[in-house]
Amino acid sequence: MADYDYDLFVIGAGSGGVRAARLTALDGKKVAVAEEYRVGGTCVIRGCVPKKFMVMASEVSHALEIAEGYGWSFDNAKFDWPTFLEAKDVEIARLSGIYAANLGKAGVELVHGRAVLKDAHTVEIVGKNRTITAEKILIATGGRPWKPEDMPGIEHAITSEEAFHLPELPKRILIAGGGYIAVEFAGIFAGLGVETTLIYRGPNILRGFDDDVRAHLAGEIEKRGIKVVLGCQHEKIEKTATGLVNHLENGMKLEADVVMFATGRIPHVKDLGLEAAGVEMNDEGAIKVDPYSKTTADNIWAIGDVTDRMNLTPVAIREAVAFHQTVYRDNPQHFDYEAVATAVFSQPPVGVVGLSEAEARRSCSKGVDVYVTRFRPMKYAFTGSDERVLMKLVVDADSQRVVGVHIVGPDSPEMIQLAAIAVKAGLTKAQWDATCAVHPTMAEELVTLKEKQSNATSAG
Ligand SMILES: Cc1cc2nc3c(=O)[nH]c(=O)nc-3n(C[C@H](O)[C@H](O)[C@H](O)COP(=O)(O)OP(=O)(O)OC[C@H]3O[C@@H](n4cnc5c(N)ncnc54)[C@H](O)[C@@H]3O)c2cc1C
Repeated sequence: MADYDYDLFVIGAGSGGVRAARLTALDGKKVAVAEEYRVGGTCVIRGCVPKKFMVMASEVSHALEIAEGYGWSFDNAKFDWPTFLEAKDVEIARLSGIYAANLGKAGVELVHGRAVLKDAHTVEIVGKNRTITAEKILIATGGRPWKPEDMPGIEHAITSEEAFHLPELPKRILIAGGGYIAVEFAGIFAGLGVETTLIYRGPNILRGFDDDVRAHLAGEIEKRGIKVVLGCQHEKIEKTATGLVNHLENGMKLEADVVMFATGRIPHVKDLGLEAAGVEMNDEGAIKVDPYSKTTADNIWAIGDVTDRMNLTPVAIREAVAFHQTVYRDNPQHFDYEAVATAVFSQPPVGVVGLSEAEARRSCSKGVDVYVTRFRPMKYAFTGSDERVLMKLVVDADSQRVVGVHIVGPDSPEMIQLAAIAVKAGLTKAQWDATCAVHPTMAEELVTLKEKQSNATSAG
């Protein structure tokens, strides 16, 4: 190492980069991390955390409706966007500060600026006249929003990044996209009283999720006042005196004050100097890595969204831990992507772990048993609301292992974290059923589901 400035240089102080840098420095290695924006990365600054605050702010309107059913009354309840933004930004700054402080405590040097690879051992900090060498380099630059730049008027559209800082709450918003970010922001704005339209080119929202979840959620978000337009693409956006007119390919014209594109994210590799360092990308534009997160360059690794494997914060963190174990602890490890639980913070939210019914049908050779229940949560008994919860268990007919759990309804993200333990442990339906219920809860349904869905019994 004598020849290099650092043992490890990490590019990107987000979820993955911060964890890898800290663990390595705590082992006594000389480590630096470059960050071009704010420490904490997407999750803390413009992803999971501020999004969840927005969801929680927005959900209050629904809680107030429920409360009225229970006899509460609120005169003149109103929401102030600037007050919320300020509180959110103070908390985000606090969290970012904690991340930076933890780096410092571990002995990691924080380099403010954009890092560009010059060769496999050298990075330049743009505009700072600084060149740094390192024995090993870890790329953890994350992803960034994608929108169709060639579409006329696209410059009028925002992405999730700007949605966190809108100067004022619009009266009408149109959100393009059907993935989890689009659906979550639709819920946020609708809950805050914004007239919200979700436009997606596919046949239903949440592609890749279980079909029952997709259908159920689409119906439930419509009950919360979101207009869902499916099978439709944008043609252009036109700015007029009264707002932004969205021209759709089917001839529809929809006007809104804000148009948000949540049409996907791409790995953040632009102008990173990958070629100079011998780091190759795959056909999808993500950094190509082996199961141990090693790139095509011998001394360079990549983790997190920039590798586009499973773009979630806890996964980036686990990839960082596996990188550290493999490279600095002589304990080769790779992350196991099976049965990773995930949540969509839509309103109502979704919690999912394991296989969808369609995936299970493809992978379980003797077919699947499916258990489904839909019911009105007790909480809504006095409200007149016809919102319903969906719970679905997908069971391998041969082994009787529960291979998929799908929940749409209040608190499903909390429930799914625990269900994930059972799915990861490979427990059978009989073992789930041997677990005594907690009453009265929604979750008790998960251990009392008795009737197989009649059209879904095991093949053969
Ligand atoms: C709106 C939104 C909501 C989300 N919600 C959730 C959720 O609820 N749950 C969940 O698990 N995941 C969620 N995610 C995904 C999650 O944020 C990412 O999977 C996670 O942050 C990936 O971590 P990372 O370390 O790969 O990259 P990031 O956290 O994106 O960090 C990369 C960092 O690198 C910096 N950087 C990039 N290039 C350079 C360079 N050349 N030089 C210096 N610095 C550079 C960036 O500024 C950034 O800070 C959400 C994402 C978004 C956008």
